[in-house]
Amino acid sequence: QTKIENVLNIKHISVVFDGFKALTDVDIQVKRNTIHFFIGPNGAGKTTLLDIICAKTKPTSGTVHFYPQNGSDLRLTGMKEYKIVNEGIGRKFQVPSVFVELTVIENMMLSLKGHKGVWNSIFYKLSKEEEKQIMTVLEKVGLEGRRDVPAGSLAHGEKQWLEIAMQLVQKPEIIMLDEPAAGMGKPETFRTGELLQEIKKDCTVIVVEHDMEFVKQIADTVTVLHEGKVLMEGDITDVLADQTVQAVYLGR
Ligand code: ADP
Repeated sequence: QTKIENVLNIKHISVVFDGFKALTDVDIQVKRNTIHFFIGPNGAGKTTLLDIICAKTKPTSGTVHFYPQNGSDLRLTGMKEYKIVNEGIGRKFQVPSVFVELTVIENMMLSLKGHKGVWNSIFYKLSKEEEKQIMTVLEKVGLEGRRDVPAGSLAHGEKQWLEIAMQLVQKPEIIMLDEPAAGMGKPETFRTGELLQEIKKDCTVIVVEHDMEFVKQIADTVTVLHEGKVLMEGDITDVLADQTVQAVYLGR
């Protein structure tokens, strides 16, 4: 039953960099179709944990298993990074990395067609089916009216949403986002929250975040990391009420 409910099982993960313990015996289960936050002060190990999941970093010990919807059990630890992307785990970094000189729809095409033969895919004519697939995702993020605008002329928030759309068009089962609302004003942050709630219906969302208002708006589960260990896990109300969390994280 673990496999049906959980999409990710992070077991006994430890990472040591030149004698420095970045993560120590981290155990986390991520439930399917939820928004799961990793929070904690700078240096807590949040980014390292994302790097472990997508196999950018190799753990010193421990394993990560992914249970896709087709019922299989994939051990991500030791897999190639590109293979993990192909299996349906996408990641978006904090700084938007769209091709600024290409239009919104061209950026989406590149993402849909893959980076093999980048230039070919620009001149590639989209099939009706592919165009529909792209437009459905652009509508979801609210950029359907901007399809022929160069990505470089989008507002900061729109660029972030385009990058999320570029992930979604690949139909991932998990997307990992590093501070998706960084640099956004309140209305855009709120809109991003609504978008992630829409996305979790088809996909599991893992977010590293500092903005507690944003966490409160949408979190299903929050894992607090501190000095490379799991300090606490639960819903945001319990986490914020916890004395230990307040002491080490919120500095009260
Ligand atoms: P967070 O994302 O929570 O701010 P990180 O995962 O980036 O924390 O970093 C955790 C700790 O591991 C930090 O003290 C950082 O300096 C250290 N660290 C991260 N990556 C490396 C690396 N490649 N080599 C050495 N130390 C690293």
